[in-house]
Amino acid sequence: MDITMLGTGNAMVTECYNTCFVLRDGDRHLLVDGGGGNTLLAQLKHAEFDWMDMREIFVTHKHVDHIMGIVWMIRMICQHMKQGQYEGEATIYGHEEVIRILEEMAEMLYPKKQTCYIGDRLHLVVVEDGEERTVMGHKTTFFDIQSTKAKQFGFCMDMGNGEKFTCCGDEPYNECEKKYAENSKWLLHEAFCLFDQADRFHPYEKHHSTAKDASELAEQLGVQNLILYHTEDKNIARRKELYTEEGKKYFHGNLFVPEDLERIQL
Ligand SMILES: [Zn+2]
Repeated sequence: MDITMLGTGNAMVTECYNTCFVLRDGDRHLLVDGGGGNTLLAQLKHAEFDWMDMREIFVTHKHVDHIMGIVWMIRMICQHMKQGQYEGEATIYGHEEVIRILEEMAEMLYPKKQTCYIGDRLHLVVVEDGEERTVMGHKTTFFDIQSTKAKQFGFCMDMGNGEKFTCCGDEPYNECEKKYAENSKWLLHEAFCLFDQADRFHPYEKHHSTAKDASELAEQLGVQNLILYHTEDKNIARRKELYTEEGKKYFHGNLFVPEDLERIQL
């Protein structure tokens, strides 16, 4: 399996793309979030993916830096189904609010001759807190991260022989996620900025955390590999170096601070 980060930034970045990524196992793909628009299509292309291979999609929450690219995916899928250029089916998973918004936006924005494929060959599937599904052929549990901003779900995927890949979304870890995040082989966690620069970026006021916080957490949870994302972009040229340096003081597993389009073997 591998993961390709299509974007690594927070909502307001201009030097990189919003956080979204593709998990791949052989010829199966899971797209997680869509970034803020049709740059998603460019990022998929730059990462040498065929957008048509994104047959399973999960949307964590309704914020525009996560959901708007999915509005484009719906358009692309339905339009190509209509034109007879898209075989088979696709599935988008999300909690009730996400799915309702996507359905309503598609209904309002796109013609009936395209939206007729929704519910037919493009499945918009509501998942509940703690619900288990088979995604990309792997047992995957979706969970509510108990956000106080917008309802948000993360997920925990069984990579095979019980090894866990856990995505905590774009907010700091909450105790309710413990059973998923603890002892994960891979943990994806946001790091808005460096702890050393918290007075400049105000992560806590924005309900985000720092490279130090996320690294301490991963250490406590017995995580083997930590990926930090959803960062500021003012340090983009030295982000990898600076965040890695700070995080390594607190986390003794493998720490990854990927750039956009970086691919990591899992
Ligand atoms: Zn976000």
